Amino acid sequence: MADPRLETIRRLIRDVPDFPKPGILFKDITPMLADRRAFGLSIDLLAESLGEAQPTAIVGIESRGFLFGAPLARQLGVGFVPVRKPGKLPYKCRSVSYALEYGTDRLEIHEDALGPQDRVFLLDDLLATGGTMAATCELVEHSGAKVLGCRFLIELGFLAGRARLEGRDCHALLVYP
Ligand code: AMP
Repeated sequence: MADPRLETIRRLIRDVPDFPKPGILFKDITPMLADRRAFGLSIDLLAESLGEAQPTAIVGIESRGFLFGAPLARQLGVGFVPVRKPGKLPYKCRSVSYALEYGTDRLEIHEDALGPQDRVFLLDDLLATGGTMAATCELVEHSGAKVLGCRFLIELGFLAGRARLEGRDCHALLVYP
């Protein structure tokens, strides 16, 4: 039987049709974040999903990955490293470009944020096509760090993002097939 804690989270995720553009069914996590119990449970479940692994840091992807990555890092007692959109990080950066439906986008990390001594989990709120997370894996690995795995609150299974992350330890708390 499914963990009842997952149901507590699932019923607080709101579907918003046609946002930010027609045809997209947006998963709005704000009701869940506003619920003290559900938000806490989401962090507990993400921590449990890491098993016995002992990461040196948690990497969160701007911006909703920060909402889960930072409290998870705090709970594990490790540091938090942000991956951000271009031009947001103030110090010297590494960057990676990746394809979007139309055009390309870029993500950045501070060049001294991670090194070969690091073993990290990457956090985002939602896995859709997998492009964002695949690019983040590349960025983190360029730093010399080891990617232990990728974690999400939500996976949209029908977009097959997991295929882009083949061979990696990927887990989402809630999967919409
Ligand atoms: P992708 O690179 O296609 O896996 O897209 C993942 C990113 O886009 C995540 O950072 C999500 O926050 C966001 N995203 C994509 N689709 C949705 C959706 N249907 N609802 C909410 N966020 C989404």
